[in-house]
Amino acid sequence: MDEVPRHLFVDEAMAHRAYDDTALPIGHGQTISQPYIVARMTEMLMAEGVPDSVLEVGTGSGYQAAVLSRLVPQVYTVERIKTLCKVAQDRFRGLQYTNINLRHSDGYGGWPIASPAEFPAIISTAASLDIPQALLEQLAPGGTLVIPVGADGDDQILQCVTKDSAGNTQVHNMEMVRFVPLRSGVQA
Ligand code: SAH
Repeated sequence: MDEVPRHLFVDEAMAHRAYDDTALPIGHGQTISQPYIVARMTEMLMAEGVPDSVLEVGTGSGYQAAVLSRLVPQVYTVERIKTLCKVAQDRFRGLQYTNINLRHSDGYGGWPIASPAEFPAIISTAASLDIPQALLEQLAPGGTLVIPVGADGDDQILQCVTKDSAGNTQVHNMEMVRFVPLRSGVQA
């Protein structure tokens, strides 16, 4: 996190608050997560070691993906709002974070192409009422999925889901959090 310039992931008008430990608005009613939460979710994903790849749902500003890209060889990230995708893509290019693969699509479907079919780590940075089925299916055996679960505006619980080699999943409740909701469909 020390390596990733967070001030480049927020509007210039917000740059003076970029190193506060707080979430900030990024437009379109969305937010860049609080650094503490970025660290905590990243740590949960790596509890069993550094995965070869990670899928993120909810690119937003691109900050969480950028942090992951400094640790994980390949980062796949999906965002439903096209404008946010474009801005994030420009940031990745400017910083030469070439191991981030970004798509404009609905993350309820996970990563929308056949390859890779499974991920050893999946993170959702938007909250869902239930864990999306596609994310459970695209989690590799031995993998970890981190996702906030709960209603919009309500207290949500950060869940860490692990899948064993037989394909059975176990859910661990981590801590209370507050995230913007996952929404289905894409937006221009
Ligand atoms: N990880 C981001 C946090 C962004 S907030 C960051 O570091 O800045 C959550 C993001 O999830 C928003 O940008 C929102 O548009 C996106 N989102 C919500 N539902 C989605 C869906 N179904 N598929 C993909 N992205 C989604």
